[in-house]
Amino acid sequence: MAALRDDAVTVLGGWPRLRKEPATLAPRPNLLDYEATRAAFSWEAARAGLSGLPGGGLNIAHEAVHRHAEGPRAGKVALRWIGKDGSRRELTYAALASDVRRFARALGTLGVRPGERVFLLMGRIPELYVAMLGALSAKCVVSPLFSAFGPEPIATRIGMGQGAVLVTTPELYRRRVEAIRSSLPSLRHVILVDRGGEAEAPAGTVRWAELFDGASDAFSVPATDPEDLALLHFTSGTTGRPKGAMHVHGAVLTHYVTGLYALDLHEDDIFWCTADPGWVTGTSYGVIAPLVHGVTNLVVEAEFDAQTWYSILAAEKVTVWYTAPTAIRMMMRLGAEAVRGYDLSHLRFMASVGEPLNPEGVMFGVEAFGRPFHDNWWQTETGGIMIANYAAMDVKPGSMGRPLPGIEAAIVQRQPDGTVRVVDEPMVEGELALKKGWPSMFRGYLGEEERYRKCFAGDWYLTGDLAKKDEEGYFWFVGRADDVIKSAGHLIGPFEVESALMEHPAVAEAAVIGKPDPIVGEVVKAFVALKPGFSPSEELRRDLLGHARKRLGPAVAPKEIDFRESLPRTRSGKIMRRLLKARELGLPEGDLSTLESDERPAAERSP
Ligand code: ATP
Ligand code: MG
Repeated sequence: MAALRDDAVTVLGGWPRLRKEPATLAPRPNLLDYEATRAAFSWEAARAGLSGLPGGGLNIAHEAVHRHAEGPRAGKVALRWIGKDGSRRELTYAALASDVRRFARALGTLGVRPGERVFLLMGRIPELYVAMLGALSAKCVVSPLFSAFGPEPIATRIGMGQGAVLVTTPELYRRRVEAIRSSLPSLRHVILVDRGGEAEAPAGTVRWAELFDGASDAFSVPATDPEDLALLHFTSGTTGRPKGAMHVHGAVLTHYVTGLYALDLHEDDIFWCTADPGWVTGTSYGVIAPLVHGVTNLVVEAEFDAQTWYSILAAEKVTVWYTAPTAIRMMMRLGAEAVRGYDLSHLRFMASVGEPLNPEGVMFGVEAFGRPFHDNWWQTETGGIMIANYAAMDVKPGSMGRPLPGIEAAIVQRQPDGTVRVVDEPMVEGELALKKGWPSMFRGYLGEEERYRKCFAGDWYLTGDLAKKDEEGYFWFVGRADDVIKSAGHLIGPFEVESALMEHPAVAEAAVIGKPDPIVGEVVKAFVALKPGFSPSEELRRDLLGHARKRLGPAVAPKEIDFRESLPRTRSGKIMRRLLKARELGLPEGDLSTLESDERPAAERSP
């Protein structure tokens, strides 16, 4: 293992706990003493970190841009954009706010009213950020769509959400929207971001430049109630048909607090969240949280490429980096050596979300960057980070960390009468639940009231994920409730089995499913993709089976292993175990709207 950086972590022998020395960390972490901060925390008091609208109320865009544009950060770079071709554009808080106001005003000119839905369909170009914050300023409900969606998922989402406005590019409009336009009667306006300066806007569309250039930016954010709807985000579709989670402006308080504690944002940070705003991470942390904190937010238009990413980290002097296991696994394929030669001395804090982060992934951070990746857990429904590994807290690789101050998390077991029992004993598996009422809790599933209601039992929101909690209050992910395997009376979490397989030097990725078996109920079957330099063989299969057996014991180890070029995943980079299972068993494949079409490793995409 590479030498650890001076103020970084020390690996304790045996049990791989990464010990932090909080007193030596610079700058001083915002969350220095977890217990004390948690004990003293209240959401009301945290509200002091936000400004609120002049007449009261809370609007996400006001907190993210307008207030900074009127204060000492006006001239500071808010967005630093790096285009696919290497071109750069910087927008200060004042410039961003001016564009945002101009767009908000343009919506008004078009007759778009507060509460109407504005859909966004484009790559990570500056206009995406302006449109999102502009629509929020105008109190419209924003729904960002991933730009690689085909016509069908676009039509379903805009139809479900009764979209009034779509902001997209001429190319995406022609290829994905034109043919479905007539099936979307709610869609009154299509605004085309015409960067190449196309001659004529297609019928029924209006050009961004027409609305924008030379237009006035005189606009002030109307009174906004914290309970006013702000965002409509569709889930990743990992377990089934995507759900539309609805979020309110008051969620910005969670974005603020998580930016402070879970991402440890400081005034001079250069922050990079690699997620696309088409997924909730790319909105909550690729747009809102960094801007609320007034830091410089790096936006990279290009898709994942390890070498490009390393050079961006170095050249832009990124200090805080938020990425995902799918990207980390891709980097691991190339090994820590690929990072050598880049000056990453500015990098202070690295975090990951979206899927379980195997201990191997955490340790790869230490080996390659001299820092662990800090895993954190949340969902589209929670609107922001709920459980995290914090800058000043010891990391136990494989654990998601501890609940955010202000969040009460528990392991519960559902009872036959519909109530839940909180499990107090450590390391007992159950469903992960959160005490309801945090600011960014979703307020509904679009058009699915019953489904929403079923997510709650008494005071608890039930997440659908299984986990356990240790004596120190660290949470450990077991698997999604749908993916857990029942074998000979054992409940087997896929994460544990996959993590053990990942320890084998040949394994780049692993996914396990339960395969029906007449005797034991289900047997564990693993699908494995190999690292470069390894190829499938009977010998390797036997070796992997033996390795897993040794690590996990015969009851939990996979009985079958199949080799795959790559594993099916969502466009946000999550392995779709349900699809592996459906294919294995010859069952219907279900909703594939978020499936990455070519099933290649997510090398070409962002998480
Ligand atoms: P769908 O709900 O449509 O099936 P999804 O659950 O993947 O899709 P998201 O809301 O994007 O949609 O993802 C949240 C889920 O991702 C969590 O419920 C959890 O299963 C998984 N997840 C996120 N972060 C972590 C993490 N750090 N460790 C383990 N699992 C995680
Ligand atoms: Mg989900």
